[in-house]
Amino acid sequence: MKLKFLTIKKAHCAILLVVLVAICSIVGVCYVVRATSSPKPQYTIVIDAGHGGVDGGAVGKNSKVTESELNLKYALTLKAICEELGIKVVMTRNDMNGLYSPFASNKKRSDMETRRQIIEQSNADLLISVHMNSFPLSSSRGPHVFYDSKNEGSKALADKIQSSLRENIAYSKQNANNSDLYILNCTDLPGALIEFGFLSNKEEENLLLLDSYRQDICYAVVCGVLEYLSM
Ligand SMILES: [Zn+2]
Repeated sequence: MKLKFLTIKKAHCAILLVVLVAICSIVGVCYVVRATSSPKPQYTIVIDAGHGGVDGGAVGKNSKVTESELNLKYALTLKAICEELGIKVVMTRNDMNGLYSPFASNKKRSDMETRRQIIEQSNADLLISVHMNSFPLSSSRGPHVFYDSKNEGSKALADKIQSSLRENIAYSKQNANNSDLYILNCTDLPGALIEFGFLSNKEEENLLLLDSYRQDICYAVVCGVLEYLSM
């Protein structure tokens, strides 16, 4: 059942990719007509692995895995899938270090400011920020996407990703929600912050640690991104 489902997902993504390539080709032809020296247009995505360095974020109930470590793993998996599809990726961080200056008195502010600068300089089409959730009520679970309500593209992107997650990943939340988050507010880019799951739910924590689950959920996210780009 799962194999069949994955095949369908991959076929779906392949169709979306063909549509995207066709759009790129048409835009490419227009570019050639207008200015032969213009490069072929290519989609660029910023992938932001939340937390890092002294800021480990949420902690797994069982395994004590830190959110910052899982965020990086998920961000790198998203990057690999996007690059396979020919999408250029700019990462805010590629290792476990935070992005703050060692001299900063407020490390969180310094870290977020560096992320904002990377996003601003990326010239990207959209932003995905990767996080893991935690909640006092241990029964809470499921991937959940957030957007900036002042940014139309952010809502459209988050809706597409949430809908792909809902179709493909059990326990996914029904709808994406608005949230006042600096990483989304600091840019005009359409951005979505994805809470991939709850580290406060033991069962979900175990799932989040599995390579196969990480692949499946990242694949579903990228399908949502492709749906948004093909709009
Ligand atoms: Zn977080």
